[in-house]
Amino acid sequence: MKILVAEDENITRHRLEKFLGDMEYEVISCKDGLEAWEVIQSENAPYLLILDWMMPGLDGTEICRRIRKQAREPYAYILLLTSKTEKEDVVSGIEAGADDYIIKPFNQNELRVRLNVGRRIVEMNKELLEARNVLRKKAIYDELTDLHNRHYMKEILEKEYARALRHQTDLSCLLLDIDYFKVINDTFGHNFGDFVLREFSDCLKREVRMHDFVFRYGGEEFMALLPNTDVDGALDVAEKIRSICESKVYEDGTNSTIATVSIGVASVKSHQPSESNKLIAFADKALCRSKSEGRNRVSIYLKDSSVKSGEDKISKAEDFSYLKENISALLEKTKKASVQSLCLMVRNIGATKYLKHNHQVIQYIELIGERFNLPPSIVESFKNAAKLHDSFKFMLEKALNSNSTGLSTSEKREIESQPDMMAELTGLFDFFAHERSILQHHHENYDGSGYPVGLKGNEIPLGARIFATVDAMVAMVSERPFRKNLPPEKVVEEFADNAGSQFDPKLVFLFFDIVEKQGLLSVPEAVLAKAKEKVREAMRKCQP
Ligand code: GH3
Ligand code: MG
Ligand code: MG
Ligand code: MG
Repeated sequence: MKILVAEDENITRHRLEKFLGDMEYEVISCKDGLEAWEVIQSENAPYLLILDWMMPGLDGTEICRRIRKQAREPYAYILLLTSKTEKEDVVSGIEAGADDYIIKPFNQNELRVRLNVGRRIVEMNKELLEARNVLRKKAIYDELTDLHNRHYMKEILEKEYARALRHQTDLSCLLLDIDYFKVINDTFGHNFGDFVLREFSDCLKREVRMHDFVFRYGGEEFMALLPNTDVDGALDVAEKIRSICESKVYEDGTNSTIATVSIGVASVKSHQPSESNKLIAFADKALCRSKSEGRNRVSIYLKDSSVKSGEDKISKAEDFSYLKENISALLEKTKKASVQSLCLMVRNIGATKYLKHNHQVIQYIELIGERFNLPPSIVESFKNAAKLHDSFKFMLEKALNSNSTGLSTSEKREIESQPDMMAELTGLFDFFAHERSILQHHHENYDGSGYPVGLKGNEIPLGARIFATVDAMVAMVSERPFRKNLPPEKVVEEFADNAGSQFDPKLVFLFFDIVEKQGLLSVPEAVLAKAKEKVREAMRKCQP
């Protein structure tokens, strides 16, 4: 242990140096009070001090007083060295802050045991400080993620909110909630869930700036406080985090998944919360909106909530049609959100192949919708149906794989492709009536040879005809585990051959048109022309 000796008399000082050196102390020796004070102020000052009472510059008691005033940690143990014996002097020395004293010329044994006492006290104090640091860390950090915890968040929020008001600066709050986290826990287990939480936290820490704060707000909810950041800046940060999460793969060697995040944003200057807690409440409202509109998105707090402004308008608008329009817009929105939620859930279980297929189908449906000049709401229904179809199909497969011992592969395949089962699932939400009919009839054939009803020609809902065409197209051009993709020429041939029997020839024709104009498939012009001729022929045959 290091020890400081301050003594102006050479003989006493040398005796002390020798004696303490023999006791294996690391001695720092000073000839007067000022020199000693300099050492005490330095970075690695000793915590065990022997100070002579009377010294030039600063005397021992004055040094005691200064040290106690500073109240440095760990505690410095001070032994005063004095030749005075009067009681009064001893009292004033201890009052100045000394812990003990010893009379010169010192008795070696006495000095040794008194120093042992000092050493014990210094060591105990160090242990105490360490324990306090551990406790302090526990109090403000979250153990799993190493982010600051909610308790500490309250402290920081209070401070930053007050600072923002004082300096007229902005302060933004992001609330983040991982989407369908329960599904991740249920699918891969709690340990992997914890792993995702840790990785997610590391990612958050990396993405915010130096002066920003990130907290674990609760289970799979997080919060970021961005001082000096307005709502647009906060939106940028939020969007960056959202998009990084969307493409991030969590991989621990055994399991792998993705996890999207929904975010709500509120700012002091834009939203004027009346107190710091209101800022969180606003961000929470915005987060709820992100969740209800389909997740994996960023929303800003809307000052006048949509419900209220809607009420205002309704009371002003006297006609019933406004109300009806409003309700159907709301339903459309809810529908879209439900479908998006379902797709995300499927994504979260790890169905990347499904995603690619679905993405292509949606693209073709959009193209056909454009070409047909269909109203956007109808195209939207077709897209919903396509998304529902693929999500349900994937989940059916998953369910069959996990609890089917008695089923043969062909039996399974049959069940998977049951259009009725799809329709039954959408039937759970009766506002999917339109999509339901598409799903129910997408295996009908144009010539009436399909199932489940055997509808023919225009009896088959248009959506179901479009869906069947597009779905087949995507299936042909994409690789499957059990076969290679068809070359473009073969795809065109296949469609031409089956126009009028399996497919609606008008749709196939339109489809070729799109293929030609958009350059979707690289087929020689002559091949396409020949195929088109074939389809025209089929169209003529189908004319009543
Ligand atoms: P939503 O998209 O609506 O946010 O759905 P969600 O499943 O993410 O939300 P919900 O609030 O229903 O579920 C949160 C889950 O997070 C439930 C809980 O068991 C889990 N969770 C909370 N804390 C921890 C944790 O420390 N570790 C793990 N592995 N799971 C946690
Ligand atoms: Mg002296
Ligand atoms: Mg949550
Ligand atoms: Mg969640």
